[in-house]
Amino acid sequence: MADSEKVENVVLGGGEPGKYMAWELAREGRQTVVIERGLIGGSCPNIACLPSKNVIRRAKVADLVRHVGTMGSGPGPWRPRWRACAGANARWSTG
Ligand SMILES: Cc1cc2nc3c(=O)[nH]c(=O)nc-3n(C[C@H](O)[C@H](O)[C@H](O)COP(=O)(O)OP(=O)(O)OC[C@H]3O[C@@H](n4cnc5c(N)ncnc54)[C@H](O)[C@@H]3O)c2cc1C
Repeated sequence: MADSEKVENVVLGGGEPGKYMAWELAREGRQTVVIERGLIGGSCPNIACLPSKNVIRRAKVADLVRHVGTMGSGPGPWRPRWRACAGANARWSTG
C-alpha cells in the first residue's frame, strides 16, 4: 500500500477559484494540497477567457481596418496574422 499523509485541506481542481482558495488557505498558514489533472489556472487563462478575448480583439481590429475606406480614409493591404495570435495565446497559457 502507498504511503499516506493526513492533510488539513485538499482543493480538487486548480482552476481560478481553486487556485485562490488554496492561496488564501496557505496564506493563513493552513496546510493545503491542490490536486490538478491539467493546467493550473484551469480554463479561463489557458483555453477560454483570455485566449478568446485575444482572438475577438484581433478580429475587431481586422474588421475596422477592412472597412476603413468607407470611413473616408485609405485602405491598406492588411490581414489578421492568426499565427501570431495563436503564438500569443500559447505564450499566455505557458507563461
Ligand atoms: C471561450 C470561452 C470564453 C469565456 N470567457 C469568459 C469571460 O470572458 N468571463 C467569464 O467570467 N467567464 C468566461 N468563460 C467561462 C470561464 O472560463 C469558466 O466559467 C471558468 O473557467 C470556470 O472555472 P472553474 O474553476 O469552475 O472551472 P475550470 O477553469 O475548468 O477549472 C477546473 C479545474 O479542475 C480540474 N479538475 C477537474 N476535475 C478534476 C479531477 N477529478 N482531478 C483533478 N483536477 C480536476 C480541471 O483540470 C481544471 O483545471 C469563458 C469560457 C469559454 C469556453
